[in-house]
Amino acid sequence: MSDNQLRVVWIYPDLLSTYGDQGNVLVVQRRAQQRGLDVARLDVRSDQAIPTSGDIYLIGGGEDRPQRLAAERLRRDGGLTRAVENGAIVFSVCAGYQILGHEFINDLGQREPGLGLLDVVSVRGEGARCVGDVLGDIDPRLGLPPLTGFENHQGVTHLGPTARPLANVRFGNGNGTGDGTEGAYNDTVFGTYMHGPVLARNPLIADLLLKLALDVNALPPTDDRWYEALRNERIAAAQQPA
Ligand code: GLN
Repeated sequence: MSDNQLRVVWIYPDLLSTYGDQGNVLVVQRRAQQRGLDVARLDVRSDQAIPTSGDIYLIGGGEDRPQRLAAERLRRDGGLTRAVENGAIVFSVCAGYQILGHEFINDLGQREPGLGLLDVVSVRGEGARCVGDVLGDIDPRLGLPPLTGFENHQGVTHLGPTARPLANVRFGNGNGTGDGTEGAYNDTVFGTYMHGPVLARNPLIADLLLKLALDVNALPPTDDRWYEALRNERIAAAQQPA
C-alpha cells in the first residue's frame, strides 16, 4: 500500500461477473472504509491492461466461454502474475479460481492453461453439476468462522502439494473431488467455489484480505450482527432435509 490508499482491482467485470461478483468488491471497499482507509477501486475490463500496483485483486465466476476468453487475455496481459510477484493479494471465485490454477477444461472440451498462481488443476466433473448451498469449516490456521455459500459448477478441482484447502465441507461439494475440500489458498492467493457473493456472506474473509494487504494482525472491530444472523439462517436452511 502506498500513499495511504488501498487499491482494489476488480478483474474483467465484462466477462466474469455472472453471479453478483460485484458484491465482493463492494464488501472489500466497505470493510476498508469502515476502518478509515482511503480506497481506490479500479474496474478493469478485458480490453484494458491489468495494473500491477494494486493491493487486492478480485476475480469472479462466469460461464464457460467468457472463462476461456478471460484466461486467454489474462495470460497475454501478464499483469496479474506481476502483481502477485509484487506481493498483491488475490481472491478468486469459481471460474476465476479455475483460471488461477495450472489448467482447466474450456468450453471446447480442451485443456486451457491457467496462470499457475495456485497449485490446482481443474477437470470436467463426470457426475451431475455441483449446485446448491454449502457449509464448511475454514482451515483453522486462518481463524475464521464457518464458511457459507452457494456453488454452481461442473469443474472439479484437484489440489497440488503447495495449495492448502480453504475449507472442509459439512454440506455440499466444494472442489468436487469427493474428499470434502473446498477452495484453495497459498500465502497470498485464494480461490473458492462459493458464490453468494461470498464476501457478503463471509465478511471476515474480506477482513483477512485487508489484513494481508495491510500486513497487520488485527483490524478495528465492526458491528457484524447482521452477517451473523444471515450465517445462522443459512446454516439452519442447509440443515433442512431436501
Ligand atoms: N464454468 C465453470 C464450471 O462450470 C465455472 C462456473 C462458475 O463460475 N460458476 O466449472
